[in-house]
Amino acid sequence: MTNFRERLNRVQARIHAAAERAGRDPAAVQLLAVSKTRPAADIREAFACGQRRFGENYLQEALDKQQQLQDLTIEWHFIGPLQSNKTRAIAENFDWVHSVDRLKVARRLSEQRPAGRPPLNICVQVNLDREASKSGVLPEALDSLLESLQPLPHIQVRGLMAIPAVRSDPQQQRQALQPLADALARLQPRYPQLDTLSMGMSGDLEAAIAAGATLVRIGTDLFGPRIYQEN
Ligand SMILES: *Cc1c(COP(=O)(O)O)cnc(C)c1O
Repeated sequence: MTNFRERLNRVQARIHAAAERAGRDPAAVQLLAVSKTRPAADIREAFACGQRRFGENYLQEALDKQQQLQDLTIEWHFIGPLQSNKTRAIAENFDWVHSVDRLKVARRLSEQRPAGRPPLNICVQVNLDREASKSGVLPEALDSLLESLQPLPHIQVRGLMAIPAVRSDPQQQRQALQPLADALARLQPRYPQLDTLSMGMSGDLEAAIAAGATLVRIGTDLFGPRIYQEN
């Protein structure tokens, strides 16, 4: 991990270059460091390099690391699949949730958000490629889900998120992501608080920025290959 700073610089340079190519302000693209499977020490090192936003997929793993990193002012994003029985701990310990795809979990997150905390920022995950194995609302059900989230007092819907099927060709990546950007543009007049397009991972960061991403979620290219433990 001694070269984290180098990797961070490289990813930031890619963000910068992609934004300039797209005629966009590089500062309009935020970097979420996806730290799943990484030890707390890696997050601490990334924090020391100036990184403040971290994304986690697995609740228990995230809570363990948060415990060890209480002294740092980290903005925590939950980006993994949501189960109803885990919403309380998420509402209590995260600033953002990117993977909301049904009213039931949104309602629970709102109800369980502790009093005195700002509303929980959420993105609605859209299953762009209609993959049976993936979470996310189907595109045709997006509008009615958004409508149903509006009355919930302790969440703030900030945008849309997607994890498209893997494609290697940048042109195809861009095409796959464009519908999410189009959906956000279509919904913004109705919901002016929508300002976030969460898309782009290590393999499609450039295509995502070309398509309008405002937040890219990068794991592998920041931390190296993931460490999965058998147990
Ligand atoms: C793991 C993960 C990422 C990061 O993927 P990399 O290819 O390692 O950059 C981004 N978003 C979500 C939802 C993830 O689960």
